[in-house]
Amino acid sequence: MRLRDSIGRTINYLRLSVTDRCNLRCSYCMPEDGIGKHAHGDILSYEELYKIACVAVSIGIDKIRITGGEPLVRKGIIGFLHQLSEIPRLKQLVLTTNGVLLEKMALDLRAAGVQRLNISLDSLDPQTFAQISRCGDLTSVLAGIEMAKSCGFPIKLNMVVMRGINDHEILDFATLATTSATTVRFIEYMPAIREQNWQRYVVPGSEILERLAQHFTLIPVEQAEMSGPARNFRIPGAPGSVGVITPVSHHFCSECNRIRVTATGLAKGCLFDESQLDLRAALRSGSSVQLAHVLNALVNSKPVRHQMNPDECHHQAFSMASIGG
Ligand code: SAM
Ligand code: SF4
Repeated sequence: MRLRDSIGRTINYLRLSVTDRCNLRCSYCMPEDGIGKHAHGDILSYEELYKIACVAVSIGIDKIRITGGEPLVRKGIIGFLHQLSEIPRLKQLVLTTNGVLLEKMALDLRAAGVQRLNISLDSLDPQTFAQISRCGDLTSVLAGIEMAKSCGFPIKLNMVVMRGINDHEILDFATLATTSATTVRFIEYMPAIREQNWQRYVVPGSEILERLAQHFTLIPVEQAEMSGPARNFRIPGAPGSVGVITPVSHHFCSECNRIRVTATGLAKGCLFDESQLDLRAALRSGSSVQLAHVLNALVNSKPVRHQMNPDECHHQAFSMASIGG
């Protein structure tokens, strides 16, 4: 059964946030003084999140990405993932993490049925990493990546490219794909928190590819179903691959297949659209039919496209940590 929105896009992907808390403070994700955290009681319980996942799958979602904040800081996450992995008809259970806690959790994540990990890593230089994350220790993330590899996870690294901050490392990251079976994806900086002069940070995907093409031969890889918005490239002889995600310079709204649910139970059809539907009343009613009704309404009202471009944006500032990226 295919779930389609009002303009015929197939919607099969739910990004489900389990917390707005995080053990890092990435400069592109939240303002320096952090974000107002929700009280513990405002955060959905695992029972409620599980209910949302089950109902979403019953209406046509077949891929769930667990996100946050940092999903691995929430107590009980492994048991929750285990439960999710047993939902019949859920084809893909994947998770996005900053990697800080991976060294001690990768094995449990594998055993819980998580199929793939996206690991966010913006620098291979300890100082730059600490500057971007405001408090992070690169060593712990690198140890986490190694552990994830040894547990059999395919490794996908997401680097948010920022001009003047880490864009000098683009080639170093691409080199990782030539020396190991790593997928490296370069993501354009998005002005979520609306920093002053945010435009200066955006390195368009086309420029990233030009810079890469000066050193590597890039062979476009055909998009697989459910592969998401990345444009991916193979480098001859390389065990890994590279890709760019261009939400700012070249939006992919016509192919958008996702909906989002925040850790407080707000459902969103688009990251950069203020409209959202509150799932809590439906959750409290205990009625799966009512919950399915709200999720279907969300899909039907999904915006045709976002209104952000390399020169301007119109949204109210928000932290990706409060929505899940
Ligand atoms: N804490 C986890 C992590 O960092 O992977 C999961 C949540 S984080 C909000 C999800 C993704 O959003 C990360 O890959 C992060 O790099 C990305 N992200 C956050 N703010 C962003 C921004 N302003 N522009 C581009 N990507 C951003
Ligand atoms: Fe935390 Fe992820 Fe946001 Fe960084 S990008 S502050 S790791 S939620």
